[in-house]
Amino acid sequence: MEIIVAKFGGSSLCDSQQFKKVKDIVLSDNRRAYIIPSAPGKRHKGDYKITDLLFLCYEHVAKSLPFDELFKLIQERYTALCSELELSLDIFKCLSELKEKIIDGASEEYVSSRGEYLNGLILAEYLGYEFIDAAEIIVFKKSGRLDEKATYAAINSRLTKGKKAVIPGFYGACAEGKIRTFSRGGSDITGAIIAKGVGAIVYENWTDVSGFLMADPNIVNNPKHIEEVTYKELRELSYMGANVFHEEAIFPVKNNGIPINIRNTNNPMEKGTTILNDKLEVKAGIITGIAGKKDFTVIAIEKTLMNRHVGYLRRILSILENNNVGFEHIPSGIDSISLVIDDSELDNKLDIILEEIEDQCKPDSLVAYPNMALIAVVGEGMIRTKGISAKLFSALSKNNVNIRMINQGSSELSIFVGVENDDFENAIRAVYKAFED
Ligand code: ASP
Repeated sequence: MEIIVAKFGGSSLCDSQQFKKVKDIVLSDNRRAYIIPSAPGKRHKGDYKITDLLFLCYEHVAKSLPFDELFKLIQERYTALCSELELSLDIFKCLSELKEKIIDGASEEYVSSRGEYLNGLILAEYLGYEFIDAAEIIVFKKSGRLDEKATYAAINSRLTKGKKAVIPGFYGACAEGKIRTFSRGGSDITGAIIAKGVGAIVYENWTDVSGFLMADPNIVNNPKHIEEVTYKELRELSYMGANVFHEEAIFPVKNNGIPINIRNTNNPMEKGTTILNDKLEVKAGIITGIAGKKDFTVIAIEKTLMNRHVGYLRRILSILENNNVGFEHIPSGIDSISLVIDDSELDNKLDIILEEIEDQCKPDSLVAYPNMALIAVVGEGMIRTKGISAKLFSALSKNNVNIRMINQGSSELSIFVGVENDDFENAIRAVYKAFED
């Protein structure tokens, strides 16, 4: 029997109206056997996410401050859900037990995980599915990393074939029972693990958008929707996906050839975006998407006969390493090399890094260019297609964008262009227009 694992994010489960949509979606396909809920998210701009409130409760208790008002907000959300959905779950008892535990100094991970736990209990009753506590099947090592062997063994023995279940996302437990959580947004990871564990045919990730768009809609007017994207393309487009899907959730499913389908709970008829290993058909000359990010600094280093100075690059990179600074790209020429670094990585360390490069590498010229933006043009259809870069660069020049840097990955999957921050939006619009059809 084919199995679908479906994860529903916080906005899909923020109130009873959303729960109704989720029920309709789940019950419309008998293969949706394992359902992974997040905690209730924001109902509107300016609203609170339950997980954030739980973190705040924990912090208040840790600082011996009263948290009744905060807890009341949590209480109201869950009690409204249970009464509006007409459930028999004794939510008052669950909540008062939770409050006691918080007062007694329960751990931060325990407290923050309860948003998913309670939502799981509610959704299970509402769907008429079994509730399986993630603490029983998602096993963490003492280090806080997932214990893969124990987890997949537990999934195998605990999830009975043919019996549908709701499994809360975001947390699990160590062998001795202590609750541990993934990083924020980690319900995506739980869903991916369950999908791998049960050998799902697809991992559905239900959220409030219909997947990915070819470009940022805040920059490009009404960009086209991406129907299919490969895991590799998505990685190159990672500046774009950050809010839609947790990056760590990709690995369990990718390695097992399980596609991820990003879907919209508010518009379930739309197909969403499917992320897969290989596309059935790659259209030559077509790009999949354009993504970019502002605020990089480029450190440009020149040294005559750089290629003869064995270990020159290693010395430069070890300066970055010693300062704990990662880099994004390192385009190079015969006698020059540029380090493209995200400003958030650089974090006030630029002067030290420049001094150390000057002292240890004795360059002929060393210049730092701030306020740079990176734009990635990505698509497997670009491989071995003539004229893609010509099209790209002429679009940029026609729109008066000065290209400061070019980098093409050897896989020919992407072309990265560096432009000044001020040209960023204009450049994205120009590239999109050039490749629109
Ligand atoms: N509720 C958790 C968070 O807000 C996990 C999740 O929603 O995936 O980060």
